Amino acid sequence: MSEQRVALVTGASRGIGAAIAERLAADGFFVWGSATSEAGAERITQAFGDQGSGLVMQLQSLASVNAAIEQIQGHGHVPQVIINNAGITRDNLMLRMSDSDWQDVLDTNLGGTFRVTKALLRGLVKSRWGRVINIGSVVGRLGNAGQTNYVTSKAGLEGFTRSLALEVGSRGITVNAVAPGFIETDMTDQLTDLQRGAMLERIPLGRMGQAAEIAALVSFLCSEEAGYITGQTLQVNGGLFLV
Ligand code: NAP
Repeated sequence: MSEQRVALVTGASRGIGAAIAERLAADGFFVWGSATSEAGAERITQAFGDQGSGLVMQLQSLASVNAAIEQIQGHGHVPQVIINNAGITRDNLMLRMSDSDWQDVLDTNLGGTFRVTKALLRGLVKSRWGRVINIGSVVGRLGNAGQTNYVTSKAGLEGFTRSLALEVGSRGITVNAVAPGFIETDMTDQLTDLQRGAMLERIPLGRMGQAAEIAALVSFLCSEEAGYITGQTLQVNGGLFLV
């Protein structure tokens, strides 16, 4: 890379997002990483030194997303890589799911991806180069009882990915989704031993995945070598689901 490229990773304070941010910084990007709190953003800033910076972003709020983007632009930065990683779960069986459980998940996982991407897309188009990577989930294809809200958001991300890829391909921008299986993070720490055991029995590789294994694929998709891959959802799930 002649001039340092800039990436934004949402939800970079923990888990998969933190691993992606670390990996992209190692690849030479300047990385903006979001957290939901000032303290989380500050920890990202401290961790990245001159390779990146933290900022506060609440994906469900357009005002918060716009304020974060203004902060990036205030530094004279135009991100060419957008990693829509942050996501939440509010699990419940359909009959018990509240309207707010449904809305919060859709508005964060899917609405947030729309807001962040729209706010930054013009910069990618002007650059005539860009990478948009959306973090989906294996359950977006498999379905999962107790997660109609989350699964809908992740399946929706796949359609978003395909449609945007068609819109911006002529500008040298690729748009892909990465669908992790069960990865060791705070999100899966919530599983009981029973649930974890049942899940492991279904995974041919016999283990949960590591956040770094998702980051490695994201790193490749951000590279020049991946320039002919677009509109795809790539599964990283230990064989749990085969396309
Ligand atoms: P995680 O450990 O729970 O971390 C979630 C991240 O999202 C944190 O950085 C959090 O910030 C941020 N976040 C939460 N609510 C937000 C909001 N409203 N606005 C903006 N940011 C918000 O999650 P993870 O396991 O790393 O998952 C990352 C992505 O991978 C998610 O999209 C998830 O659906 C997907 N995924 C995960 C797995 C898995 O097995 N872990 C499997 C498939 C897909 P704070 O630290 O400030 O709270």
